[in-house]
Amino acid sequence: HLGLKVDYASELNPDQLMAATTIEGKVLVIAGAGSGKTKTLTYRTSYLLENGVSPKEILLLTFTRKAANEIKDRAKSLLASSLSNQELSDDALAEDKLPTDKALNNITSGTFHSFCNMLLRQYSGLLGINPRFTILDTGDSEDAIDLVHKEKKYPTQTKTQAFPRKKTLQNIISTSRNRRIPIRDLIESSYPDIAVHIPIIEQLAIDFHEYKRANHLYDFDDIISQVVRHLKTNDTFRQRLQNTYRYVMVDEYQDTNIPQKQLIDLICEPDSVSLMVVGDDNQSIYAFRGANYENILLFGETYPNAKLIKLEQNYRSTPSVLNYINALSAQITLGYQKQLYSDAPIAGDKPIFRRLSDETKEASYITDKIVALKPEYDYNDFAVLCRTSFQSNYVQLEFMARNIPFIVVGGIKFIERRHIKDVLAFVKVLYNPNDTIAWHRILTLFKGVGAVTATRLTQAITADNNAFESLLAASFAKKSDQLKPLYHTLTKAQQAETVETAIEHILEFYIPVLKLIEDNWRERSEDFRVLKNLATEHTSLDSFLENLALDPPNDSVAVMESSDDGQSNDKVTISTIHSAKGLEWPVVFVNSLVDGITPHHRSLDDFEALEEERKLFYVACSRAKTQLYLTAPNYFSSYSGYFDMASRFIAELSADEVTVETVKSPIKKNDDPIWW
Ligand code: ATP
Ligand code: MG
Repeated sequence: HLGLKVDYASELNPDQLMAATTIEGKVLVIAGAGSGKTKTLTYRTSYLLENGVSPKEILLLTFTRKAANEIKDRAKSLLASSLSNQELSDDALAEDKLPTDKALNNITSGTFHSFCNMLLRQYSGLLGINPRFTILDTGDSEDAIDLVHKEKKYPTQTKTQAFPRKKTLQNIISTSRNRRIPIRDLIESSYPDIAVHIPIIEQLAIDFHEYKRANHLYDFDDIISQVVRHLKTNDTFRQRLQNTYRYVMVDEYQDTNIPQKQLIDLICEPDSVSLMVVGDDNQSIYAFRGANYENILLFGETYPNAKLIKLEQNYRSTPSVLNYINALSAQITLGYQKQLYSDAPIAGDKPIFRRLSDETKEASYITDKIVALKPEYDYNDFAVLCRTSFQSNYVQLEFMARNIPFIVVGGIKFIERRHIKDVLAFVKVLYNPNDTIAWHRILTLFKGVGAVTATRLTQAITADNNAFESLLAASFAKKSDQLKPLYHTLTKAQQAETVETAIEHILEFYIPVLKLIEDNWRERSEDFRVLKNLATEHTSLDSFLENLALDPPNDSVAVMESSDDGQSNDKVTISTIHSAKGLEWPVVFVNSLVDGITPHHRSLDDFEALEEERKLFYVACSRAKTQLYLTAPNYFSSYSGYFDMASRFIAELSADEVTVETVKSPIKKNDDPIWW
């Protein structure tokens, strides 16, 4: 093999080194933010390759595809530098053990969803499933549940209680699966108001499942659960995977849910499969998706011989910022306690907390700070982190007004926009002519076609194998004069040589339709350029659809370019806290820090929900390297309301950890006596 060239001992501390070089058995790395968990995974990847492990044997599961690529890229450059002075033997070249770009691309990596999606398609023969299935995103699943509900003619209300909305139903069904809680128990504990509907909802969950199977549709939960089910029942499949993926690594393990843990455990069951998971229980922020930080605590039970490694040195933040993060971490009750230390010689500035009269003032405060600090930093060095993207509106406006280039990450996804979903519905029926949800969406675009007609038409279209031809059937064509042109569009698009051309054909048909339904069709059409651009990266419809569903692009439209240099990549990041996971910036702002928003008022009397809010705040603050600014407006125009109390997460800590900037003129909101 290639021999050791990267100097691991000088790049990693002893605990990290241990984690990177223990390549057999099961290893749990548990450590706080910024302690080098992800860095350790990177070095371990290059260490494995250097030690003759074939890239095909490596499975790397991360939270976003971007994160996986970053680990691979960094491992790549590590290896490249170690190889530059080295003669490459013919053996290494011949054996496909050469860690060049190509070899690294042979590592299987990505999210749980993209990995399982790949398995379902690759092993469709063995599993006896149709590989041409389409993926339902959350919105599609809601629509499908609604369709099934109507098709089955279940009642929509009782005398006393209306039936829950499709969003709630989707949520209940998904949570029940991801947490393995029966629907009855879940509704009784979390949705007691709708308990009268339990029997129907239980039946609906089964009907929804059968509907998806019959139509080759998979929702996000299915993609993982179906693989788990096959792993449990199909020995050949399980053994195949166990023999293929001999080295499994998982980042952000605290955010895995039960099906994801089962997937890992089924593949890694034999002693011969090496597994390393890294995580921080204090950063588990996906309970609403069924994530279960207890998976970390259970690791030792599942694998009694597992090695536990704790990393305790923080390399990200200055001692002053770290001090604050440690104090926050101490307030988190559940989980491992950990205290991080830093070796950095200069303490740096304490985090600053500042109250402002309203959101506009908050936005200009943040902008002023950026302008003042800019000479020392690039725009890339700043991030504004918000609980939801909604809380970034004022900051975006202020940045635009003052020509600060920025990019918005998280929030309403590109593919969740109505017109994008419409166009994708056309692409979906090209790929899977049985996709009933997509047909339904297309048909209801037409004048005179309501939900009932659309359902009937959809049934007729997908009844046999000639979906497109049935659009021309005489009794049909009468329903709308659009059906014939639709037929021509679809056949043309189907024969198109590239995905991009297929989309162009669809747009020729769709844009006139859009003009009739949306006044702002022109603005919306801007998004189609982005869509076509994405299409050029794909050679087949399925890879295009898959990529959009499983790894959607961020909200690219909200990007504002600075006037002088449209091509610059130097931009301030505005992100939701969820999307900021694992990342770091020198200067971080966290806004809207009042009780009622952070933590959210709905969490105030629920211990676990409050705990999760606390963790979310911990994730936000621990992104900062040198400066951390915490801001809280008194008045929120979006709620038309005053929020008197600073976030309890700030109030709980002493002045030792945070500098409270004094406000020169005290804010008077009205003249009410204080005891009112
Ligand atoms: P998070 O919990 O936020 O995901 P993490 O534990 O994954 O954090 P990393 O992102 O891997 O931490 O590392 C944080 C920062 O510390 C990075 O900038 C990384 O390069 C640096 N770092 C980690 N370990 C070392 C080390 N041994 N020497 C120098 N820098 C290090
Ligand atoms: Mg990390």
